[in-house]
Order: sequence, then structure tokens, then C-alpha cells
Amino acid sequence: MASRSLLKTFFFWIGIGFISFVFLKVVLIKKNPPTGVAYSGFQTLVDNGDIVSANIYVESDSARVDALLRSSQKYVETTISSAELPDLTRRLRDRGASVSIRESRTLDWAMLVLMAVPLILLIGFCLFLARRVQSSARRAQATEEAKSRTGIGYDLHRLEEGRPLIVGGIELTFDKGPVGHSDGDVLAHALCDALLGAAGLGDIGTHFPDTDPQWKGANSLLFLEHAKKLLADKNFAIVHVDAVVIIEKPKLGPHFPKMREALAKALGVSSDKIHLKAKTNEGVDAIGRGEAIAAHVVATLSLR
Ligand SMILES: [Zn+2]
Repeated sequence: MASRSLLKTFFFWIGIGFISFVFLKVVLIKKNPPTGVAYSGFQTLVDNGDIVSANIYVESDSARVDALLRSSQKYVETTISSAELPDLTRRLRDRGASVSIRESRTLDWAMLVLMAVPLILLIGFCLFLARRVQSSARRAQATEEAKSRTGIGYDLHRLEEGRPLIVGGIELTFDKGPVGHSDGDVLAHALCDALLGAAGLGDIGTHFPDTDPQWKGANSLLFLEHAKKLLADKNFAIVHVDAVVIIEKPKLGPHFPKMREALAKALGVSSDKIHLKAKTNEGVDAIGRGEAIAAHVVATLSLR
């Protein structure tokens, strides 16, 4: 994209350069009007060799002469009859002046129009290029959006006394812990569901049924490690994970760094991709009464 915008800038300034050139040309034509002189006076200038160059604009039966003076570097203008033209041309050339004969002054405008053609083409090309850059940027954005997937995960476990409280792969000191087939890690389970959901791979129950004895009391980080492999098989990369764990007690915040590290390690990502938050339920319902723990997770994946 950087090279495209550089190209756009380049063509923009080329366009500005052309506009300035044409503008200056018009202004210069208008700001340096030649001084009118009588033909007799003009002849004297010719004979004195004071004419550097002359533009002769031939009209139906007369001709207008614009000439640059050697002495003052200014232009003078005179009108002659067509009959006098051959003689004047010869005398000018004899004295070393360059002579240019044109059909009429309108040719200047024709030249200007001619000069404007490349400018118009250039502006058209720049507009075309800008539109192409814009549409390809839109396409790239659409592709990028198609590559990005989001999944949501939720889990809740009842808490019972005498069981270990494991959240985010970390065991916390507490008198209650989740009831579950595995270790009952709500955060790992919700995270697993969010990842599988984003990848369109079903849910945790599909891959790790709680009827399967091999998952009894299992460390839930194993589920995440397996989910990581499933995502890799489908060319998904984890962009970001945001989670909220709801439990009345104990406070989870101080344990977040360790949890993030454990989850990140299981998923093979850096811990800055995992964001954790904790909430209480303000004493309301089962969670509020300390009878359950729950987690919500949103995960974003990208297709590699
Ligand atoms: Zn669970």
C-alpha cells in the first residue's frame, strides 16, 4: 500500500506541475504584451539588426509581426500588408534574425490546447489510478475481513467443598472447587469453545466427550493444546482472546499473569494475546452465593 500511495503522490505532483506550467504560459502571454510600433519604425529596427527573432502571423490580406529586440529583450508588434511579407522576411533573415511564419495568432491557442491534451490524459490516468488503488484497497480489506473469524465460548461449573479450584490452568487455594468430568477449568473450557466456534469446528463436547474415560480428571490445558492443533490444521492463527471469569470468591486478578502464561503456553501464542477479566455476581444467584463459577470468552482468529 505504501508504494501505491507513493505512486499516487508522484502522479499528483506531476499533474500539479503540468497545471502550473500551462497557467504560467497563459499568464506570461497576457503579462508581456508586445509594444505596437509603426511599420516604418519597425523597418529601422530590422535594418539596425536589433531584431533577434520574429513570429509572423499571417491573416487574410495582412500579417502581424511580433519581434524580440536584442537591445531591450522586449517584444514589439507591427502590422504589414501581405505584399510586404516576402521582402520583410528576407531582410530579417539577412540580418540574422530567426523568422517563424504561422497561419494566425489563434495557433497559440491551438498550441495551448495541444499542450493541455497530455495534461488531460494525465489527470484522467491519475483518476483512473486513484480509483484502482481505492478499489484494490477495498478488495484487500474485504479479503482481510473474510480472513478474520470470531467465536464465543461460555462455561459454568458448580462449586463443591474439598475440590481443587483450577482456573486458567492454575490451581488456586480455596475451600471449594468445580464439579466436572475433567478438572472443571471454566476458563479453559470457554476458551476452547470460543476457539473451536471461531474455526467452525464444533464445541468442546464434540472433541472431548464427558463420557470418554480418558478425559476423567484431565488437565483442561490438554484440550487447548488439542484445539491448537485443530486450528493449525485449518490454517488459523489466534489473533486475540478476551475473557471474563465470574466468581464470588477468591479474587482472581493477582493470578492473571500466571493464568495468561499457562493458557498462552498451551495455545502456542504470546501471553499478550490473552486478556483476562474477573467479575463477581454481587451476591446474586448461584454464582453470587458462591455455588458456581462461570466464564465467557471471545476469541478472534485469522486465516493464514
Ligand atoms: Zn466445563
